[in-house]
Amino acid sequence: MVDAILNDALAGRDLSPEQGVVLLKQTDRSSIAAIKETADRLRQQQAGDRVTYVINRNINFTNICEQHCSFCAFRRDEGEDGAFWLDTAQILEKATDAVGRNATEICMQGGLNLGAKISGGSLPYYLQLVKTIKQEFPQLHLHAFSPQEVQFIAREDNLSYEEVIAALKEAGVDSMPGTAAEVLDDDVRRILCPEKIDTATWLEIVSTAHRLGVPTTSTMLSGHIETPEQQMGHLDRLRSLQQTALARGYRAAITEFILLPFVGQEAPKPLRHRVGRDQPILADALLLTAVARIFLGNWIPNHQPSWVKLSLDGATEALKWGCNDLGGTLMEEHITTMAGAVGGTCMEVETLQQAINSLDRPYGQRDTLYRLL
Ligand code: SF4
Repeated sequence: MVDAILNDALAGRDLSPEQGVVLLKQTDRSSIAAIKETADRLRQQQAGDRVTYVINRNINFTNICEQHCSFCAFRRDEGEDGAFWLDTAQILEKATDAVGRNATEICMQGGLNLGAKISGGSLPYYLQLVKTIKQEFPQLHLHAFSPQEVQFIAREDNLSYEEVIAALKEAGVDSMPGTAAEVLDDDVRRILCPEKIDTATWLEIVSTAHRLGVPTTSTMLSGHIETPEQQMGHLDRLRSLQQTALARGYRAAITEFILLPFVGQEAPKPLRHRVGRDQPILADALLLTAVARIFLGNWIPNHQPSWVKLSLDGATEALKWGCNDLGGTLMEEHITTMAGAVGGTCMEVETLQQAINSLDRPYGQRDTLYRLL
C-alpha cells in the first residue's frame, strides 16, 4: 500500500488526502525510511539541491492583543507585565540595524491591539507602520500582516478585505505571511484559537491577496490536538488554494510552505496539559515534513522547516526530509521564544551556511520571493 502511494507520487501524480493519511500513520522503520527517501527525491526534482536562506529581521510591533489563543505565550493585556508596543523611532531603529546587517526583508506582525489607531482608524495606523519602513528603506521587501490582522483592520474600520489589502499593498506591503492558519479545521480552531477567523475566512483573505497581486506564504501549526486526517485536510486546503491562484491566473500565489511544530513550554496551562509535552517530537515533525513535500510539492515547491521550533540541528535534519530552504536569520524572535522554544532568537548567515555545508549541498542567499541573490 505504501509503495503504491509513493510510486504514484514519484510518477508525478497528486496524492489524495486519504493516501496522505496512510503515510502519516506509518510506524515501522522501513516504511518511514521509504517516505523520507521519496520526499527527498521529489525535493531534488522540484526544487533542486541548493538550500536557500534569506537575511531578514522580525519586527513584532506590539504584543498587546484582544485575543486569547490557547497556545499563545506572546500576548499581553495593555498594562500587564511584559506588554510592549514599539513607537516609530524604535521600529525605524530596528529596520536601520537590519539594513546595516544586509537584510533584504522585514517581517512585521503584531498582536491585535485595539488602541493602535490614528484618528480613530485602524488602517491609518497600519499604513503608518508600512510608511515608517518603506519611506526610509524602499529597497527592503516588507513581508507583513497575517490574514488575522487583515480581518482585524477590516472589522475595526468597516472595510472589505479587498480594500484593506489593496491599501496595504499601495503603501508598500510586498507580501503577506500565511500565519494564523494554525490548522485549517474549524473543530481544531474552536479549541486552539476560538476568537480567530475561521477556515473559510482565512482562505478568502489569502485568495484575495493573490488576486490583488500580493504573494503569501503558507504555514501549519502541528503537533498539538490535531489528527492525521485534520493535518491532511489542512494541506488539501492549501493545495486547492494554490491551484485556484494558478488556474485563474492571479498575479500572485503561495511562495512556500513552513511547518511550525507546537512548542508548549510556556503556553497557557490547559492546552499544555492536554498536549502533555513542552517541545515538539522531532520524529513526528519530520514525517509530516516529508508527507507535506510529497502532497504539496507539485504545486508549492519551496518547503521550509523552523529552526526556532526544532533547533538548528532539527531543521538541518528536515532538509533530508523534503525541505529546500532554511528560512531566515530573523535577528530577533519573540513569539515562539516566549513559548519556551530552544532554537534561539537569531541566526548568523555563517551558521546557516555551515549547517547546509554539513549536508554537502550548495547554499544560496535568496530574496523573499525565492529569487537567488
Ligand atoms: S496568537 Fe496572535 S491573535 Fe492569538 S493571542 Fe497570540 S498574538 Fe493574539
